[in-house]
Order: sequence, then structure tokens, then C-alpha cells
Amino acid sequence: MAPPFTGKSDASKFLDAIPFLQARHYHPTRLGPVVFIVEHDMESGEDWDEAEDWQRRTNTQERESSVNYGVDPDSILSAVKPTQTAWHASGVNSCSLGIEQPGRAAQSRDEWLDDYGKRMIANTGKLTAALCIVFEIEVRVASSDDVVNYYLGRPYRTGLISHLTATEAAKRLGKKNYGHWDPGYSYPWDFLLAQVRLWLPGAHSPVPRPEVTTMSRIVLDPTKPKRPGKRPHVELAPNNDAIVGYWGSVLDGADPASPGFAEVRVRKLATKAVSIESEVDDEGNALGVAAIRADHSTELIPWA
Ligand SMILES: [Zn+2]
Repeated sequence: MAPPFTGKSDASKFLDAIPFLQARHYHPTRLGPVVFIVEHDMESGEDWDEAEDWQRRTNTQERESSVNYGVDPDSILSAVKPTQTAWHASGVNSCSLGIEQPGRAAQSRDEWLDDYGKRMIANTGKLTAALCIVFEIEVRVASSDDVVNYYLGRPYRTGLISHLTATEAAKRLGKKNYGHWDPGYSYPWDFLLAQVRLWLPGAHSPVPRPEVTTMSRIVLDPTKPKRPGKRPHVELAPNNDAIVGYWGSVLDGADPASPGFAEVRVRKLATKAVSIESEVDDEGNALGVAAIRADHSTELIPWA
């Protein structure tokens, strides 16, 4: 597994290197900022040249539509640059980029997650990660509320949406839409999100590790706002064997006004759990162990 993207310039370089063949129909400039990524399907079979076929079709077709990117298990291709506006989700083109994936909206979860589908969505995940990094989009599934709020100038959150979500939003906004509902109700968003996270800066490769490993020592910043009653929280990679981020301040019981740091040693106990040991520098006393379970719930086990 290749290392994750290191940051914006690395992710930009990846996007710039994607083989490009201009779509026949598109708008030559951006008509708005990129705040959503729309995941589509091609209503196609599962050939290994679906992305190449899509790119050629987009270049020549009469039909006035286009999508920014197309993937299959061994290719990531582009037909409309992010600096241009693709015509892929009527009503929300101005705020989004689109990705075409082989498959059909009627597919079951198992059909999406066959060997072909997993390899294909792994590519969608890498591309989506690069786009999220470059355009500062949250790695989450957004709702039509977010899209509607964006267009109405209300507070909104960025994220990934389906063409179905775009259609719902366009309907609610009274905009033209064609009722598309791809990639359907069984598209495996959890699998896609897990693939995206593998490519985010700081993600670790999902290589199996020994049962007990001291992974790192994290110094929690006591100047960060303390969230009363909250334990330091460690964010895990999808397979729970790597730490991708954390937040927190000193543990309960430590003096938040103390100039010392709360140090946390992170130790992987098993693939399903991580423990964090904490101590306060100026006292030198560990306060407890917070166990983070696979479902991300936490439990503080005080030192005896
Ligand atoms: Zn679509």
C-alpha cells in the first residue's frame, strides 16, 4: 500500500497527473466553489476498461452532460478539470465535482462489494481523498440539508453526496433536475469512507502489526479549550490498528491551569482496542488509562 497523501501540494500533484481528455460539453470556468463531491454510477457493467470507455464517450457524445472524473479498478481518468464546471448533477453543478463509477443504481451491497467493486471503490477513495484535501471538504456523507443550506446562504457542512442527494436538493430548491438516483440505496458509503481515510495525511498503512506495540507519545496541548467531562479522544483508522488523530486536554483530575502538559502514551493492545496512559508532567503521576473500544466508545480506568 502506497503511503497516504502528505498534504495539499502532494494531493494537487496527484490530481494534475490524472490522464485528461476534455469532455464535449462543459462550462469552461468554475461557476462556484467546490463544496461537495458527487459520487455517481455509470449504469454500466463491470469491464476493466469502463473508465476509458467513459472518457471517450464523454469526449464525443451528443448528450449534453459530463462528469469531472471516471474510475474503474485500474484507472482514474478525467474529462472536466476542477477549474471548469461539469454538467453532471443538474441543479448543483456550480458547487460540486462529480466522479463516475462503473455499476448500476439497482445493485445490492454485495454486488457493490464484489472483488471488482472493492478495487474500483478503492480508486474512488483515493481520488475522493485528494479532492477532499485540496478543496478542504470534510470526509463525511452530507445530506440534502447541507446542499439546500449552501444555496440559501445558511450555515452548512461540506461532504460527499450521491446524485440522489443532489436530485433531492435540486427538487427542494425548485431547480431543474432529471430525477437521477445513482449510485442507489445500497452503495457502500462506509467502505468508501474507509478507503478515503487510508489516503489522508497521517493515516497509517493497514499492515497487520504485532499485538502490543508502543506506537507514539502524544503531548496534549493544555492551551486547547477544555471540554468538561470529556476524555482525551483518539481517532482510529477504519481497521482500528492505527491512530489517525486525537483531541483532548488534560484528563479529569489534573489542574487545567497547570503549566505542565498532560502526556499520553499510546499503546496498541490489540487490533480492537487502544489504550492511552496519561500522566501530568509536573507531578509525574499517571492519572489513568483510557481504553478506546472498536466502536470508539471510551472508558477511563483510574490508576489504583
Ligand atoms: Zn449521476
